[in-house]
Amino acid sequence: MPQRPYVIDQMISAKAIAARVEALAREITTHFSGTDKLVVVGLLRGSFVFIADLVREIDLPVEVDFLEASSYGNAMESSREVRILKDLRGEIAGRDVLVVEDIVDTGFTLSHVVRLLRSREPKRMEVCALLDKPSRREVDIRATWTGFEIPDEFVVGYGIDFAQRNRNLPFIGKVRFTDPE
Ligand code: 5GP
Ligand code: MG
Ligand code: MG
Repeated sequence: MPQRPYVIDQMISAKAIAARVEALAREITTHFSGTDKLVVVGLLRGSFVFIADLVREIDLPVEVDFLEASSYGNAMESSREVRILKDLRGEIAGRDVLVVEDIVDTGFTLSHVVRLLRSREPKRMEVCALLDKPSRREVDIRATWTGFEIPDEFVVGYGIDFAQRNRNLPFIGKVRFTDPE
């Protein structure tokens, strides 16, 4: 299927993101203060830009690991079926863990990942999500910290893709199709 033409309307500026990331990192640093090590688990691929900025503002000993779960494929709707495509490299049993997600939408992905990681018995585990679409929730789950609550729009940029494109945009924008449909 050929890609429908679209434009991207800016929703959250790079400056607003940077300010929010700094504030989130401050709260995370306070919450985990005194930890011997915080294992920051980025959910690939959408969180890679967020995690890069976030860890540089966290004033704690940090280890970075990644987990790849898939629910969307290249579609714009959640498949509701979550698969682990790439697991963590390290152990998290007895560790302080921060899971970093790009967007909590229906909640299926995050609840699946949280259940999986909890079964490994970390000492403490919290979740930081850049974006939350509360109106779309189907599973009762919330991140400990959320960057921005957004309406039910399909967004891209700052690591987040549409069919693997637009991850390199420095801001977050919404996709607006320009064809008559
Ligand atoms: P959930 O399982 O909560 O429905 O979906 C979560 C995942 O779907 C997010 O981590 C993200 O990867 C993807 N997703 C949800 N909303 C959007 C969106 O507006 N744009 C993009 N590109 N991906 C989204
Ligand atoms: Mg994601
Ligand atoms: Mg995606």
